[in-house]
Amino acid sequence: MTNYRDFHRRSIDHPEDFWREEARRIHWETPFDKVLDTSNPPFARWFVGGRTNLCHNAVDRHLVERAQQNALIYVSTETGIERRYTYAELYAEINRMAAVMRSLGVKRGERVLIYLPMIPEAVFAMLACARLGAIHSVVFGGFAAPNLAARIDDAKPVLIVTADAGARGGKVIDYTPLVDEALARAQHKTAQVLLIDRQLAPERLNASYLVNYEPLREQFFDAHVPCEWLESNEPSYVLYTSGTTGRPKGVQRDVGGYAVALAASMEYIFEGRAGDTMFTASDIGWVVGHSYIIYAPLLAGLTTVMYEGTPIRPDGGIWWRLVEQYKINLMFTAPTALRVLKKQDPALLKKSDLSSLRTLFLAGEPLDEPTASWITGALGKPVVDNYWQTETGWPMLAIQRGVEALPPKLGSPGVPAYGYDLTLRNEANGEPCAPGEKGVLTLGYPLPPGCMSTVWGDDQRFIDTYWSSVPGQAVYSTFDWGIQDDDGYVTILGRTDDVINVAGHRLGTREIEEALSSHAAVAEVAVVGVADPVKGQAALAFVVLRDAERYASDKARAKLSTELTATVDRQLGAIARPAHVHVVSMLPKTRSGKLLRRAIAALAEGREPGDLPTIEDPAALVQVREALAAASGKA
Ligand code: ATP
Ligand code: MG
Repeated sequence: MTNYRDFHRRSIDHPEDFWREEARRIHWETPFDKVLDTSNPPFARWFVGGRTNLCHNAVDRHLVERAQQNALIYVSTETGIERRYTYAELYAEINRMAAVMRSLGVKRGERVLIYLPMIPEAVFAMLACARLGAIHSVVFGGFAAPNLAARIDDAKPVLIVTADAGARGGKVIDYTPLVDEALARAQHKTAQVLLIDRQLAPERLNASYLVNYEPLREQFFDAHVPCEWLESNEPSYVLYTSGTTGRPKGVQRDVGGYAVALAASMEYIFEGRAGDTMFTASDIGWVVGHSYIIYAPLLAGLTTVMYEGTPIRPDGGIWWRLVEQYKINLMFTAPTALRVLKKQDPALLKKSDLSSLRTLFLAGEPLDEPTASWITGALGKPVVDNYWQTETGWPMLAIQRGVEALPPKLGSPGVPAYGYDLTLRNEANGEPCAPGEKGVLTLGYPLPPGCMSTVWGDDQRFIDTYWSSVPGQAVYSTFDWGIQDDDGYVTILGRTDDVINVAGHRLGTREIEEALSSHAAVAEVAVVGVADPVKGQAALAFVVLRDAERYASDKARAKLSTELTATVDRQLGAIARPAHVHVVSMLPKTRSGKLLRRAIAALAEGREPGDLPTIEDPAALVQVREALAAASGKA
């Protein structure tokens, strides 16, 4: 077994040797001349001159050995549909889709905007783009027309692939009126629209740009479309960040570096082997969906399970039943889903045979200790928290069990992944932090393969946004704040934007949230900083209670408030004590489960939160507003 420390060291000290070896995991139609080109920092080019194709590596390559193995298992608890595609069938469907796209004028380098729910055609469309050398830009199906329009104008697609409708929690969401409105709003008018008709909703698209997929699929049923061999650094896709902190950035990804990085991550981080089955419960509209529903499992010859539905319909046991039914070996989701599952009857988890499951992976937001302890205990299997961003495409921090199974530490996603030269730095002077000292997580140049190459259409924004914020240092900023211990384990303390400054003491929102959530009554919590005339800033807490009825009376609430304050005092000191603890029944979050702290802070300071395109449920904001109003009424 390799030792993590040496493995990581080697990847940083000898990146060319390290990644040259990893590059053997994929097929190169033309070998690369150079592993790494650093002639134009902060841009980096990997595997220069090499020509390859993501679809070939994810699908065609496996036809020799695993044509009859399932590549994709699709389950929808919204429509009751289950479909299985072997690698051979997936290959056929992608070729049909690619032929249809080609007939509609899609060519290498052109953009295809994919605005689809979780249906197999989304996978076909993404891989068909990869096959043709076209650049896909998947836009999360929950976005409304103005956000879709903004992305259409940024990506300027020749084609938009959409469906009649999505479905969520039993509700049908018509897509075509949204697409219609987005096209009316957008400046870019030349896109055609390819419609996948699920027959869930009447289609209301303007006929002039509409093309129906089904008849074309029939027409191209036996098509074989050759893969375009792309230079490793040509763009494969553009994906916009979640937009938690403001205007989303179009993250541009390459071809060769991404393929190599993902294939390597399957072994070193996910311990996934060809023939395994992986279930990533995310959405194709997010980076976790791109990398770990689609590309990584297929690149490594796994079977991937794609799920449309919520974790609690028809009941909270559905995911565990999927594990049993499909003998899922690896599962990947976000802590927010686990917090939902934790509220379900514990018997539901016990009912299914989970013996196939080896590891549960979690990413996207901080994994709080109570949730981590609960799921680790309940499953009796390793739970691997991993930290990364849309920008990086694969984990930056994790226990890399395929390298060395270091012991996990509760509250920390682990240690820097190989390839990432990660340093915590003081934001004021840019100097590296000592162990135990809080700072911003930065990455040294060059970013490893698989990370963003630039901001789509805006190289300057890539430099200005990511490489210019740490004084005196040409480093990439994650804009996340953390702390690293003597053993190299990093704990994320929140986003740099969310850091609270109380009377000169800097506190991560996460620290206070972690303290509050250690109280048994607390199910979920958000802490924000608000302007305070005396202390500069004060912390405000918004908690969701496990059993709200128990604390319905004013007296019980007051007692709880005192207890919560005491918990924070004990763990962090009185300086971190929230000025007020508000009780709500839900917190404003993005559709990917991230807390919208900025929006809460705006309301608390009497400002409007602005446009929140990715909000899960706007009613949560109403609750925050009401809680604030009630408290100021009492004060
Ligand atoms: P935007 O950049 O547009 O504001 P976003 O940052 O929410 O959107 P993503 O790239 O989806 O978009 O999210 C990445 C962020 O999620 C990280 O920077 C970090 O703040 C948080 N995050 C991800 N994984 C973890 C984790 N395991 N622990 C703690 N935080 C995490
Ligand atoms: Mg971000």
